[in-house]
Amino acid sequence: MPAERYRERGGFFVDARMKHGLEELPFQEVSAPPEVVLFLRQHIGPAGKPLVREGHRVRAGQKVADSDDPLGVPVHSPVSGTVVGLRELPHPMSGRPEPALLIRTEDEGMPTPADEQDPDKLPPEEILARVREAGVVGMGGAGYPTHAKLRSGRGARFLLINTKESDPNVACDVRLLRERAEEVAAGIGVLARALGEPQVLVATRTAPGELPEFERLAQERGFRVVHIRPCYSVGSERLLVPEVLGFEVPLGRYPPDVGVVVHNVATAYAAGQAVRYGLPLVSRGLTFWAQDAGGRNLWVRVGTPVRHLLAFMGLAEERFSRFVFGSALMGWAFPEAGIPVVKTTTGVVGLGREEPSPYARPLPCMRCGYCDRVCPVRIYPSLILAAVKKGDGRALRRLHLEACIECGLCSYVCPARILFTPLLRDGKAFLRVQALTKG
Ligand code: SF4
Ligand code: SF4
Repeated sequence: MPAERYRERGGFFVDARMKHGLEELPFQEVSAPPEVVLFLRQHIGPAGKPLVREGHRVRAGQKVADSDDPLGVPVHSPVSGTVVGLRELPHPMSGRPEPALLIRTEDEGMPTPADEQDPDKLPPEEILARVREAGVVGMGGAGYPTHAKLRSGRGARFLLINTKESDPNVACDVRLLRERAEEVAAGIGVLARALGEPQVLVATRTAPGELPEFERLAQERGFRVVHIRPCYSVGSERLLVPEVLGFEVPLGRYPPDVGVVVHNVATAYAAGQAVRYGLPLVSRGLTFWAQDAGGRNLWVRVGTPVRHLLAFMGLAEERFSRFVFGSALMGWAFPEAGIPVVKTTTGVVGLGREEPSPYARPLPCMRCGYCDRVCPVRIYPSLILAAVKKGDGRALRRLHLEACIECGLCSYVCPARILFTPLLRDGKAFLRVQALTKG
């Protein structure tokens, strides 16, 4: 039975009841929307350049945008139809307006799989090329291009698969392990081959025996399944490594620097589909949750507006005031249902009109220190807040703002209802600009 509350550093709890039991619900396949809204950027890295124009006919799985930047990945159409325009919309990953292709759906058919390839017969470079060509990116929320992460992690000692699924509103990763265990295991094998066959560990919040098929496949393939304590912040790569492997990732370094490559379980699944069947990443599993409607696991095409998900579930749009994309604690909230799912969307939370933002009327900081006690990376958000407001770059560096994982726990516990995350992001952007201008 999954825990209902996550105990965090400092003795605080994050309420996980919103996903309690949700992993029992099978994915429901959502139909294609009448119009797909496909952002040209679906990951961390530059947006792709459109390869099609208004009036062009496209088929499902056709590449419609690409970039020659090392961190660029292509975007593919999830439907067959006609391009009807390019529009700027707030992006679920940045909150800022970014360009998206509009494609009118004319045929709901999905891309056709090619003849199965045996990944064990493919050289690692070919695996990387196939992963990139299919547009695979980190699907746990961060969106780092998978081919680039595999390239930088070659020769790593450990491949750590993250099925920790920390966010209190997300159950789609565990559901994926239950429903598509064989494909996930094969995908993990693909990633391991690309990295040079490191030791594979799969970190999960489930208890032993709760994933019987996957646990059997893992044993057959020599993966070690590690059942870790339920705790919200430990889903972050930087904290997952010490939790599972017992050593730290030093400040300013990344897991590959200490011989570890971390991939989300949905990314492993998508990489497997890309390499084995040549299938581009055009759909994914996610969890929708709302207070009175409960939760659902949905299998959704990338580019599907939330409005279409609501129609599919029979929920009236008018009852919601805004939608949070991804983590309930970290994601951006949008007041309209036209925003679409992207490759990194693990979940959507619908907030009702009777659920006002708790951060709408913040009070002055009362120096209670709760935010400092709960911060999982042991920095001091209360002091950082003051330094951001003063624009004091020297203090921000001294306080190690760059270590912040943007987990949102400081906002979650703050009795003055101060929303830290935008301020922390502003502070990081300020430091980046300062570093650039100093040469
Ligand atoms: S958002 Fe950053 S500063 Fe706040 S608790 Fe999380 S890691 Fe610490
Ligand atoms: S939790 Fe809020 S009120 Fe308390 S010290 Fe931090 S910012 Fe100030």
